[in-house]
Amino acid sequence: MDQQPFLVTFYGVRGSIPSPMVGQDVRQKIVEVLEQASPANLKDAASREAFVDGLPEHLKSCYGGNSSCVHLHVGGHHLIFDGGSGLRVLGNHLLEQEFGKGQGEAHLFLSHTHWDHIMGIPFFVPFYRKGNQFKIYGSHPHLEKRLLGQQHFDYFPVSFDSCQADIDIVPLADQKEIVLGDVRITWHEMNHPGRCFGYRVEYRGKSFIYATDSEYKDLGDENLKPTIDFFKDADLLVFDSQYTFIEGIEKEDWGHSSMFIGVDIAVEAKVKKIAFYHHEPTYSDFKLVNVFEQTKKYLKAIDTDSPLEMILSQEGLTLDMLKG
Ligand SMILES: [Zn+2]
Ligand SMILES: [Zn+2]
Repeated sequence: MDQQPFLVTFYGVRGSIPSPMVGQDVRQKIVEVLEQASPANLKDAASREAFVDGLPEHLKSCYGGNSSCVHLHVGGHHLIFDGGSGLRVLGNHLLEQEFGKGQGEAHLFLSHTHWDHIMGIPFFVPFYRKGNQFKIYGSHPHLEKRLLGQQHFDYFPVSFDSCQADIDIVPLADQKEIVLGDVRITWHEMNHPGRCFGYRVEYRGKSFIYATDSEYKDLGDENLKPTIDFFKDADLLVFDSQYTFIEGIEKEDWGHSSMFIGVDIAVEAKVKKIAFYHHEPTYSDFKLVNVFEQTKKYLKAIDTDSPLEMILSQEGLTLDMLKG
């Protein structure tokens, strides 16, 4: 049977508010790179390129400062999870494809309507192209009112209902699943102030989970069982790990989690790969990598031979779900 791609691309990985790198961050990276360079690394253009290619990701690049947005190209469909500031960047990319000619079709799933998850919508240019077709899905009541409110004239010069594209708002409250050809999407309520929903996408035996903005309590408790069942055997779990483990305890009921908790849950649910996501906006890339290194040690301590793969979500990173 004809197999379409199943690609996951991160466009916004930062939590709470967009947080661009500042000059001090860039300087720190330059100093660190120079400390690692030897004369042989710098002798000609090819050596310099090879040296940079070999540097760790946090030195040669950055994890990104846009708020939540992940794009899936699956079974021939465009699926978008959340409309944070990363949606603006995705929109510009989509314009280079059929969306630039007003012939695009995409499905936008909102986890919830906190600002960091919808603030990119007014800047999503494909919405302003006549002919493009969109469905926006969400479980919260009055979804249209909330999106209209964000673009009220007091806050933004262009109203949401003046967008030229054909935009259909689909409430999920009464439905159990969305099926688009061979792609199946289900959802599950997370633990977050104001309610938040995680999504599971299945296609040709591979499963992707988008589980942002959630706090996990009572690990091992019956209360957590429905969540573990929802995550069960996922090939990729995108997981809110905004805080360190200690901060997660201090900020009880703030509605976020940590990489350590992510490891516990992923091991319990037999997830194959976890992508830590919704990074804390005050963390530099150095801090992120530091917490990630501690998390690797934690996984080794609780399960030496665990097959769990772990990555830090990074803007621009594409993962091919059908390859491994
Ligand atoms: Zn958030
Ligand atoms: Zn939130």
